Amino acid sequence: MSNCIFCDIVQGTIPAAVIHSTANTLAFLDIAPVRPGHALVIPKAHHPTLWDLPPELGNELLEALQNVAKAIRKATQADGLNVMMNNYRAAGQLVDHAHFHLIPRQEGDGLHLWPQGAYPSPEAMQSTAAAIRAALA
Ligand code: 5GP
Ligand code: ZN
Repeated sequence: MSNCIFCDIVQGTIPAAVIHSTANTLAFLDIAPVRPGHALVIPKAHHPTLWDLPPELGNELLEALQNVAKAIRKATQADGLNVMMNNYRAAGQLVDHAHFHLIPRQEGDGLHLWPQGAYPSPEAMQSTAAAIRAALA
């Protein structure tokens, strides 16, 4: 057992309903699903957040996400599917091993995403964009 529950699942030291595995990724059902079929796709190596993921994992990870998402939609007859990633506690991350939630959705299933707001002015929106562009530079 390690101090990371998802590393333990990768190692097979704790059980999981595994649905897909590649050289560097694993997918298994979330133990507390938002909807039946809710799955998690993770890197097999321990990387805590989005920013710790090696970019060279990108293709394999995207392919795993697409394949698993397609299979979940087919198996659950889902009308749609959310891909979600929480990073840090403020965003709801409870397990510090990067993971993508795949959540099948049905028309009219009653789930709502976060409430959306508005910028106080067009200038406020532009200055927020400028701050992010500056952070990228
Ligand atoms: P987070 O809030 O970190 O984005 O999501 C962590 C997810 O991991 C939660 O949805 C939670 O239900 C799931 N989870 C936590 N422990 C286990 C476990 O031992 N096995 C499985 N399959 N899922 C887990
Ligand atoms: Zn881990």
